[in-house]
Amino acid sequence: MENPAGDRGSDALLVAGMFLALFLIVSAVLLYSAGGQPAAQGTAAWAQASANARRFESALAGHSIALLSGHHGYDSGAVCPDGLREVDVNWQIARRVNQALQEHGASVQLLQEHDQRLDQIQADLFLSLHSDSCIERSGFKAARWHGSYDQAKREEDLFLACLQEQYSAATGLSWSANTISRDMKRYYAFRYINAKIPAVILEMGFLGGDRSLLLHQQSRVVQGIIQSIGCFFARKG
Ligand SMILES: [Zn+2]
Repeated sequence: MENPAGDRGSDALLVAGMFLALFLIVSAVLLYSAGGQPAAQGTAAWAQASANARRFESALAGHSIALLSGHHGYDSGAVCPDGLREVDVNWQIARRVNQALQEHGASVQLLQEHDQRLDQIQADLFLSLHSDSCIERSGFKAARWHGSYDQAKREEDLFLACLQEQYSAATGLSWSANTISRDMKRYYAFRYINAKIPAVILEMGFLGGDRSLLLHQQSRVVQGIIQSIGCFFARKG
């Protein structure tokens, strides 16, 4: 059967109308994302974050850091059911942090657990790197000792604030203050080193829930530590 010309004409109008509607919707979406407030805010935040990153990295030059690789040379630390050992993860990350700090002009003393040199350390900051247990949990935390000198305590609190801000930004992990243990606050090394040196122990994440970050995205972990240390020296002045 032959189609009347009038039907073909109304079909064409309908299709043209649909294209016009689609064009308007797509244009509106593109305009909003390119020039709208949310995109502009995102760009400004990114620019601010990268400016901070450069400022913090340049604040590392000339400072000395005592970096202890948790359990290294002493024991295995946490061991997962598949054999993954905390001591190995800590050591991989500590070596990379050591290298990155030196590249930014800092001097580093890389220490083992129960290192013979603990009581002779001279540094602007002491940091012990550990990883948490193999449970399916996520988050990081850090602690200082109650026995530090007052000035060191103030500096430790400043460094803890930098960690909460910078380490979480770089790694995407959340600060889990409620799992800070008595063992962390009474970490034996705090009693050996000079109480004038600000000293902190960091649990970088869980070998269980944060495994992919700790094993396969170590550069984010390293960046988080570097940025936190840089933030500390930049704000300490
Ligand atoms: Zn540990």
